[in-house]
Amino acid sequence: MALGEFELIERFFRRPADVQCARRGDVPLGIGDDAAVLAVPSGRQLVAALDALVEGRHFPAGTAPQSIGHRALAVNLSDLAAMGATPAWFLLSLTLPAADEKFLEGFAQGMLALADAHGVALVGGDTTGGPLVAAVQALGTVQTGAAITRGGARPGDLVYVSGTPGDSAAGLQLLLDPAAGAALDPAQRRWLLDRFLYPEPRVTLGQALAGLASGCIDVSDGLAADAGRLAAASNCGLHIEAERLPLSAALRAFAGEPGARLLALTGGEAYELCFTISPDKTAALAAQLDIVKCQATCIGSVTAGRGIDVRESGRPLTLDLRGFDHFASP
Ligand code: ADP
Ligand code: MG
Repeated sequence: MALGEFELIERFFRRPADVQCARRGDVPLGIGDDAAVLAVPSGRQLVAALDALVEGRHFPAGTAPQSIGHRALAVNLSDLAAMGATPAWFLLSLTLPAADEKFLEGFAQGMLALADAHGVALVGGDTTGGPLVAAVQALGTVQTGAAITRGGARPGDLVYVSGTPGDSAAGLQLLLDPAAGAALDPAQRRWLLDRFLYPEPRVTLGQALAGLASGCIDVSDGLAADAGRLAAASNCGLHIEAERLPLSAALRAFAGEPGARLLALTGGEAYELCFTISPDKTAALAAQLDIVKCQATCIGSVTAGRGIDVRESGRPLTLDLRGFDHFASP
């Protein structure tokens, strides 16, 4: 007999109270009623983000269900991280062509493993039939007034990026064309594929940056395009030195040095944080990076100009910085 909507929720998404994330003390009422009741601690503000993953748009048809579940939550935790928020809860709107148990098992496992890793609780959602879409709304909190925005960068601040951007875009290329990347060893291939399939949202880094960074954005459309948005929101310009971009050995092996720089600047789905910080706070930043065990690299500075100026050996690099726009004409 086909799995009904109620059984599906009970079996895959409602969890016994002894599971770590279900034990949060701030969910008086979770899955099962008409809506969840959540307790926002006093002195903190609620931070909310919602992103949908659509099959064929955000991941190729046939992508492992674990990866779809992981990414649907990861991209939203990344948005909360960019605000300096501490994630707490999330809701899932899942549209499925069929109640395929194998798919649901993998999807729930990928999503709930990431939820447990960050101690966030699934508190509700919606389940409908249709083309495969996984939309997550993530909710977190930040100390009142302490959210990091895109608008706080000031001329003279330094620009940093976490991790090694470009890897995820290379991973997607490998997923779409397994014959690509002939120069990669198996570990490098796995590394790049996993950066696309299982990105690690920079949750602890984002929290550490609250009170430290002047501005922050998460890199979903490409480093240069998203850094440009940060600059525009701050009414500043950004100067980026391409030589300083942190490139993984795997990305260099995949694309060569110039190709790797280009992927790092324009490749989407990186889910790294690009942030700005006053130069007098770099020692405090180094201490925080040590604590949260995250790499972040200074790639340039904020200027009094407008727009983003990428230079390689002093020469301007012209890039297609439009980022991905679902409704743009080609
Ligand atoms: P309603 O018709 O009142 O919207 P639903 O049948 O959609 O109720 O949902 C019943 C309960 O199950 C609600 O608490 C809802 O939040 C939860 N829920 C539905 N789908 C999901 C899902 N995919 N993941 C988690 N919770 C879900
Ligand atoms: Mg409903």
